[in-house]
Amino acid sequence: MVKILVTDPLHEDAIKILEEVGDVEIATGLSKEELLEKVKDAEVLVVRSGTKVTREVIENAEKLKVIGRAGVGVDNIDLDAATEKGIIVVNAPDASSISVAELTMGLMLAAARNIPQATASLKRGEWDRKSFKGIELYGKTLGIVGLGRIGQQVAKRAQAFGMNIIAYDPYIPEEVANSLGIKLVDLNTLCKESDFITLHVPLTPKTKHMIGKEQINLMKKNAIIVNCARGGLIDEKALYEALKEKKIRAAALDVFEEEPPKDNPLLTLDNVIGTPHQGASTEEAQKSAGTIVAEQIKKVLKGEPAENVVNLPMLPPEKMSKIKPYMVLAEKLGNIIIQLLDKSVRKIEIVYAGELAKEKTDLIKRAFLKGLLSPILLAGINLVNAPVIAKNRNIKVVEGTLSESEYGNAIKVIAEGETDKVSITGTIANGKPMLCEINGYKVNFSPEGIFCVIKHIDRPGTIGRVCLTLGDYGINIAGMQVGRESPGGESIMLLDVDHVVPEEVVEKIKKLENIKDMKVINL
Ligand code: NAD
Repeated sequence: MVKILVTDPLHEDAIKILEEVGDVEIATGLSKEELLEKVKDAEVLVVRSGTKVTREVIENAEKLKVIGRAGVGVDNIDLDAATEKGIIVVNAPDASSISVAELTMGLMLAAARNIPQATASLKRGEWDRKSFKGIELYGKTLGIVGLGRIGQQVAKRAQAFGMNIIAYDPYIPEEVANSLGIKLVDLNTLCKESDFITLHVPLTPKTKHMIGKEQINLMKKNAIIVNCARGGLIDEKALYEALKEKKIRAAALDVFEEEPPKDNPLLTLDNVIGTPHQGASTEEAQKSAGTIVAEQIKKVLKGEPAENVVNLPMLPPEKMSKIKPYMVLAEKLGNIIIQLLDKSVRKIEIVYAGELAKEKTDLIKRAFLKGLLSPILLAGINLVNAPVIAKNRNIKVVEGTLSESEYGNAIKVIAEGETDKVSITGTIANGKPMLCEINGYKVNFSPEGIFCVIKHIDRPGTIGRVCLTLGDYGINIAGMQVGRESPGGESIMLLDVDHVVPEEVVEKIKKLENIKDMKVINL
């Protein structure tokens, strides 16, 4: 029988599934030495977030075939080490969506009807039937920011309450939202029109403080804001001021910028209710995290395809060393493309040129899609699931080859959004990714850190004005390049900068004479 080692507490139903395929040994609270010893002859290792599956643990495991993570994040598992040894890692990414969606509904209702405040009053021996008058959900507009797994579950439940749903998610195709009966709008419209606003986006540099003073000022006086995603999405200082001055009605928070919150003034306000990051904390979420992963392990052991594999077995080393630099390049191209387009992608055409045209390019395509999707999705995106997620998002991927190219071995990508089209070509020079073309303009640029892509008309003084504006905000320019069609025509400026470029600066530069557009790329 297969030896299955379980080193973190796991739901009994998950254990039952595992017992159908092997001998299960449950050994929780192991020291590092004990884990190294126990894992030696295990073929399957099942963990939650407690066990650190380090490279040392993986290298010590002589027979290990599968690692199961009962939950989403795999940051406690050394994926590279597992992949190098051909060990398949599976997880359960969808286990907590319903639980989080239900808590969101719970918090919405609790805030609308002042349930926690009324309960506290009742328990103080009061019978106050006046102070806690609430509002209904029925007929109100709910604005959902982020229409992914949890956002869509919230939408379904809110529709059952008779709410009208609008959503802001620039990466979801309109027809997907329409098929769910949801109207897509921009963030400002959502803030203006919603009676309730709920956040379901990952925390990234782009989404940090996406709800700040400016957005709150657009909201209705009776608006209720719910956050069961991540604390940093809301500027808590701005939220505090607005709630204190009753510019909006209430907030219901499961997550905070600092957890556990220390002297957070929000928690002193009567119109704030909350829970201590309880979104995924249900019996069912924990049970399904276990049972989903156990089913995945069963499939892998039977040689059937599993849906939630988070890594891929490696190619032979000589093939891999050839392909690897182009995977790094492709991931960067994906990352740049989505930031240039900044909207949902409809179609991607990837053309492999030169020697690359003869290689197996599947891993390069996967790396590109990983780069494309990771700035907009959770950390769960990886080489294995990237193509499936792209397909679910209606992104059509077409591949082609070109036996000769002026850039040698190169990858050209053409991405089509709803209205825009972006093209970009990259190659490897001295072992490093280089951009050689953006939207038809020739460049020779090493894409690293933060850089600005500015479309402009080639007129004297234009570059100077951009540089001065950046300088006014203390943003240092480390390098620069200009690509142009012809003197005096449309051109592209690439500026390598040492600091984050705030949205305010971007807006200012966009308004300068002869500037057509500006995008800040953050790699
Ligand atoms: P998901 O990846 O399925 O969906 C995220 C959605 O956000 C995607 O549709 C994406 O297109 C959209 N998005 C990304 N960037 C955006 C932007 N700048 N503007 C608007 N939309 C953007 O993720 P999910 O599983 O639905 O999880 C959503 C959030 O819930 C995550 O932040 C996650 O960490 C959080 N979460 C919280 C708990 C909890 O205990 N409270 C539990 C699980 C998940």
